[in-house]
This record gives sequence, C-alpha cells and structure tokens, in this order.
Amino acid sequence: MSATKARRTTAPATAEQPAGRAQDAIYERIWNAIVDHSLPPGTKLTEDRLGEIFGVGRTRIRQVLFQLAHEGVVTLEPNRGAFVAQPTVRDAREIFEARRVLEWAVVARALHTLTPTGIKRLREHLRREDAARTAGDRRTLIKLSGDFHLLLGEASGNSVMSDMLRNLVSRASLIIALYEHAGASSCPPDEHTAILDAIDARNPRAPDMMRHHLEHVERSLMLRSGGSPALDLKTIFDAQASLRSGDKDANQGNQSQYDGEHDAQDRTSSVKRRRARN
Ligand SMILES: [Zn+2]
Repeated sequence: MSATKARRTTAPATAEQPAGRAQDAIYERIWNAIVDHSLPPGTKLTEDRLGEIFGVGRTRIRQVLFQLAHEGVVTLEPNRGAFVAQPTVRDAREIFEARRVLEWAVVARALHTLTPTGIKRLREHLRREDAARTAGDRRTLIKLSGDFHLLLGEASGNSVMSDMLRNLVSRASLIIALYEHAGASSCPPDEHTAILDAIDARNPRAPDMMRHHLEHVERSLMLRSGGSPALDLKTIFDAQASLRSGDKDANQGNQSQYDGEHDAQDRTSSVKRRRARN
C-alpha cells in the first residue's frame, strides 16, 4: 500500500463514484499537474473552471484547494483566490533544514519501531523506485522518492511527526520539480537502500545517514539566492507532450493553465510590490 494514503487514487472522477473518492481523484489530478509543471508555480486555480473540468460543484473544489493549501503546494489569497505556490530559495532551504531535523528523529525512532513486515514493505517500495528510475519516469520517481520518506515516517509510530513530514515532503516535491537539474534523480540512487539496510541492521549511524542524504538532495538543486526559480524545460515539454496525446480533461486543463498565465503574472507583480514595501 502506498504511503500517500488511500486518497491518492488514480481513478478518474465520475458521477458514479462516491463523493469522497471523486474528491480524492480530483486532488490527485491537481497535485500531479502541479508537481509535473502542467500547472506552473503562480498559476491561478479558478474554482469555477476546475469545477467545469471535473464536473463537480465549487464547494468540492474548494475543499480540495484547502487540502492542497494545508500541504503548502497551493496558496490562498484573500479576495484573489487560489494559486499554485511559488516557493523561493529561502523556502527551499528552510524546508530542507526542517526535514533534516525531523527525519533524523524519524530514523532514530524507526531503529526501534520498524518491524520485519515494515522492512519488507519498504524493500518492495525501493523496487518500484528502481523501476521508475530505469524507465526515466521523472514524475513518478519524484513521487515515489517522497513516498519512501513518508513510509519511514509512518513506521516511526509517531503520527504527529508523520503528519509534519507529509506537509514537508509535499512542499519539497514541488521544490524538487522546480529547481532540480534536468536529468538528475530526486534522491541519489542507492542512498535509500543504504539507509534501509542500516535500519535493518540496527546500525546507530542510520539517523546521520538520513541527514546526509537530505543534504545531498538539497545540493542537487540549483538554489541561487536572489535568482528566480530555474524552470526545468524538459519537465514542461514532457508534460505538454503528454497533454497533447492525453484525454479531453487533460486538454481542458492545458487551456485552464493558459487562462491562468496572466493572473500568475499579475500576482508576481503584486508580490514584488509587497516585497518592495518591506
Ligand atoms: Zn530520499
């Protein structure tokens, strides 16, 4: 079972589905579109437009947007609506600093709490990561790499820490999609395996290995203070290619993205104006 919980279903939203499942599917579609850049940072997420695309009312769209905002990948602005988050270099550094502290503690707990069943589940997960890496499926690899960390969080047995980690990993996934070198892998190959081997062997160095791993991930990002996010063109073009060959909903989503571009630019200007005042 995936660490991303049952709500991350891949089923399309249809009227026949129970309300909860349809909402989960909408959540999944928007989350994926944000992380794979079909909806670039700053894009306005209009409730009416999303309601049309997914065939549901505004209330349900709003609930999904609140959930995404809670996870830090969407920002809600009073009187302006919802936008895809635009994490800054400072946000990225703060998120990775927080992850190093939190995940050191997660692994320290996992040394005592991870069961043979949990180890088996994580080893199965690593095989899926390898398959995505071999296939060059970057979007899936970013998601699965994050899921490895979430699975460890769940296995640590502290639900508060696990929830905090879910928030940080969602925001980090957006940052990785935004700042990573084209062609890099989201987590360096073999490091997850080494960490899991160390936990399995009850090696007390395991928490430090996780901290170093997160330092490696942060170093793989092109974080330059003061610069604007380096958009990964490959990601954008891959997403556009899949939209061109995709279904009707995907094409509507593309139009929605286009509609949002002017709003996104307006928002960037307003953010700059706010910063200039500070
Ligand atoms: Zn990792």
